[in-house]
Amino acid sequence: MRLRYWTALTAIACVVLVATMIHVRKGSTAARDNTDTHSRSDVSVISPDQASSLGPEQDAQTVASDVSNWSRSVEPGDSLDGLLAEAGIDAVTRAEITNAIASEYDLRRLQPGHKLALKMASDGLPENATLEVDDGVQIRAVFGASPVVQVIAPALETVRRAGEATIDSSIYAALDKAGIPTRFATDLQLVLAETLDLRSSLESGERLRLMWRENRLNTRVIGEPVIDFAELRLGDKEYEILWPDDTSRRTMIYENGQLKSVFDQPIMGARLSSAFGPRKHPIHGVVRMHNGVDFAAKEGSPVLATQSGRIGFMGRKSGYGLMVEIDHGNDLRTLYAHLSALNETISPGQRVLAGDEIGSVGSTGTSTAPHLHYEIVFEDRPVSPLTDTRLYEPSSEGTPMPDASGQIAVARHELARLLGTQR
Ligand SMILES: [Zn+2]
Repeated sequence: MRLRYWTALTAIACVVLVATMIHVRKGSTAARDNTDTHSRSDVSVISPDQASSLGPEQDAQTVASDVSNWSRSVEPGDSLDGLLAEAGIDAVTRAEITNAIASEYDLRRLQPGHKLALKMASDGLPENATLEVDDGVQIRAVFGASPVVQVIAPALETVRRAGEATIDSSIYAALDKAGIPTRFATDLQLVLAETLDLRSSLESGERLRLMWRENRLNTRVIGEPVIDFAELRLGDKEYEILWPDDTSRRTMIYENGQLKSVFDQPIMGARLSSAFGPRKHPIHGVVRMHNGVDFAAKEGSPVLATQSGRIGFMGRKSGYGLMVEIDHGNDLRTLYAHLSALNETISPGQRVLAGDEIGSVGSTGTSTAPHLHYEIVFEDRPVSPLTDTRLYEPSSEGTPMPDASGQIAVARHELARLLGTQR
């Protein structure tokens, strides 16, 4: 039985071959998230250069080529075992293939649109089995003298795009009509929530120009596009919003070319999912004051201090769950809640710098899903993290408000260039 080494081998060593390392940028969380769905605790990652030393069967070139003997897309109700049976594989071999693939992929996540491909040898047994899951990621079990399970992440291309829309009724409708991802309407609404009331300020005929980036595999867009820059003209005012790129956690809002607010977020690449102020509570259903802002992020994502300061409280606090509080002096504190874990190398009283990791995203306390709740508290009252600039004032311990005129100039230029060349 050529597959007999499977059980032992997969338990001992699963070699992950990243044939083509993802070279997407840090901000592109969607694609990264999906490649993180595999357990990597017991695997080693080898580079494409090292891959050739594995021998011809595991060569990176072989990996890139397709297997075509038998393949079928997963349909509702399918199981991996059922698909293998349909391909004529005997029960024992089916179990071995299933165990091999399950060592790298949680088969409960199997869903329509995934694809199974088998390459058969002349004796009718599979030489390899490849399960293509979300976003082009492949789980491949190669059976031979030295069988391996490989997780192959596709090489994604990051493409910058731009678009222009004229608003008739709502931003959402305008984006939809212009073929721009409508999720940016939410990004805009959340970031501008306290700067202007988009519903009442919009009349008709406002111009909205946006720039974003998306990850592609061939021509298919993988994951969610990420907004970078927006220009919104409202009457005699022009608003410009610059979102964080891969090297920054900073969102900036400009009004008529002047920096109006600056906001450093506590998680790299995460997007705002809830604004500061009154809102309908997701659990209690009643309208309540939301004392901070929320970020949607994966469980375990690093949570960073937004400004330097001294660690205050660290631990569990009723609805906040596991949390960290940082004292920035001048009666100003920041607060990070619903954490899954605290950074054990820091303790109350210790100084931290802006960007230092203080814990990990979780869902402790009153929370329905992993997210970070972030608050700024001044004189014991919560203030808006998006518009309150006390953290950036020279009297505070942190870094002052930045001069970002260079960054905004680059974004303006790039947007104009893209809109020009796309016509
Ligand atoms: Zn919250």
